Parts: sequence; C-alpha cells; structure tokens
Amino acid sequence: TLFVLGSFVAACSATVARLPRAGESLQAQSFLIEPGGKGLNLAVGARRLGAAVDGLFAIGDDAFGNLAEPALRRAGLPVAMLRRLEGATGAGIGFTDAAGENCLAVFSGANARLGAREVRAASAALARSACVLAQFEIGDAPVAEAFRIARAAGVATLLNPSPFRMPDPGLLADTEILVVNAVEAAAFRSALGLAGPEPGGSPEEGIWDALTAALLERGPRLVVVTLGASGALARARGGPVLLQPAFPVVPVDTLGAGDAFTAGLAVGLAEGRPLPECLRRAAACGACVVRRPGVFDALPDEAALAAMLAS
Ligand code: ADP
Repeated sequence: TLFVLGSFVAACSATVARLPRAGESLQAQSFLIEPGGKGLNLAVGARRLGAAVDGLFAIGDDAFGNLAEPALRRAGLPVAMLRRLEGATGAGIGFTDAAGENCLAVFSGANARLGAREVRAASAALARSACVLAQFEIGDAPVAEAFRIARAAGVATLLNPSPFRMPDPGLLADTEILVVNAVEAAAFRSALGLAGPEPGGSPEEGIWDALTAALLERGPRLVVVTLGASGALARARGGPVLLQPAFPVVPVDTLGAGDAFTAGLAVGLAEGRPLPECLRRAAACGACVVRRPGVFDALPDEAALAAMLAS
C-alpha cells in the first residue's frame, strides 16, 4: 500500500478571451470545478496503475469539501482517507486565455490545518504501508510526523517539496526518496550555496553531480530531478547519475506532469522494479499527462502506460 499524505484542492478554472485586468469583469467562455491538489493527483495516479492506496486528506465543512467523497469513490480510493476539519476546503481559481497563458491563486484551506495529531491517529495504517508520499501543499508538522513514524516502522518515505520551501534538516534526513523538478532543484542549489549556472534543463550538464551529491549527503538514498521535455535524471547513493529521456509527445497541457511522474516512480519502486525501469515508467506517465488537457482524466492506467512504453 502507498500512503499519500494530502493535499485536496477544489480547482476552479475559467477560460477567457484574455486575462482580466485590475478592476475589470469579463465574460468567461467556460467554467469548471474539478477535484485536484498534488496529493489527490498522486493518489489517483498510483491507484490507476493498480497500486493499493491509503492516506490522509483534510477537507473543510463547506460545499467544496463535498466534492471529495465522490471524487475518491470514482477513483477507487477509500473515502476513509478524508478528515473533515472545521472551516474552508482548499481551493484554487485560475484563468486561461485564448493563447493558453494563465494565472492562478490557490488557498490552502483545510490542507494547512492537517496536523501531526491527525497523522498520529492514522499511524497504524501508515506503519503498515510500503511507502509514504508527501508534498508541500500541507504543513511541515504532519509531514515530519508521518516520516518519523514511517522510518521507525521501516516504511519508505518519498518527498516532493513542491511548492518549494527548504525542508528542515531533520525532515530531509528522514526522506529516502527526494523528487524535485528544475525549479525546486535550482532552489536547492541556491539554498545549499552551490555555485555554477542555473539548471537550464540539460541533464548532461556536470552541475547535477554536485547537487545530487549534496542532497544524498543530507539523508535521501535516491534523488530524482525532472526536467520537463528534457526528461529526468536520478542518482542513488553510491551510484552514478542516470539519465532518462522524455518520451516524444506533443505537449497540450503540462500541468500535473510531475505528479504523474512521481506516482509512476513510487508504484514502480513499490513493485520492486529496477531503478532504470522505474524511471522509464515514470517518464511515460508524465508524457501521458502532457499530451492531454487536464490531469485527473489524463493520468494513465496500466494499458495507457504500456502503450506509451511501447511507443
Ligand atoms: P513538474 O510538472 O513538476 O514541473 P516536469 O515538468 O519536470 O515536472 O515533468 C515531469 C516529467 O514529465 C518529466 O521528467 C518528463 O518525463 C515528463 N514530461 C514533462 N513535460 C514533457 C514533455 N513536454 N514531453 C514529454 N515528457 C514530458
């Protein structure tokens, strides 16, 4: 079982001819409310690949919170993952114009109120799982508590520090698998005071040796960097940098590529597959999501993954 710790967000999106200016009201061409959030993407992504999934998602006691249960049921996820807390559910609002340009604001809501207490109450399920997956759309305390419980129980831990904040040294020490994109890799490089050019997206550059080595020294046994259309690279402790090219697809909507990649990676590792194969499957999952609009419906099942792998 993969244990996914938050987040749930009701994602509202409007398509407009052009982005509204300050003080302006525009007619939207379409409006959509979808269940989302990095946690939900990971959970759905892993479930669709056949993994057993459990976890913990905080929702509020408002109307948006009511979207969560049917969304989980539809995805074949246990509704017992949901914790209803007082106050607002996490929600986002985005505008996309005719050229595909967008702007977005996300309110954490209940995700920020998920605490170490809720995690401790789920410690039995957590300790039974194969791996705990967390990202940074929730607070530090629940992630730190979950990773502490996991490590004590011999459960693997995977952290995707997105949106980026520098993880506490103790949390990094409890992280076994660290997955970052180019933006987060650059943030780590400056936080760790590593010199050299900003990662421009080329996996061949020697700059990755220093960054991955510095991160591996701080706790993780595996560091993975995703580089969009340039693919991904990975380095396990004591090993060389492995390169994984991206699958050649025409990108339609790159939102959620990282979540799809991480879900594919986690499922592959939990199935005991060798690292190069896990990376290839992860990249194929990312490619499946970028060639279709939206995230939820684009996350691949085993058949879609197999088709991409064979392409
Ligand atoms: P994030 O969504 O977190 O910013 P990335 O953009 O790095 O993450 O994408 C994650 C993975 O998805 C990449 O490593 C790659 O394998 C795949 N991917 C992303 N964009 C593309 C693309 N344009 N073409 C093919 N694969 C892609």
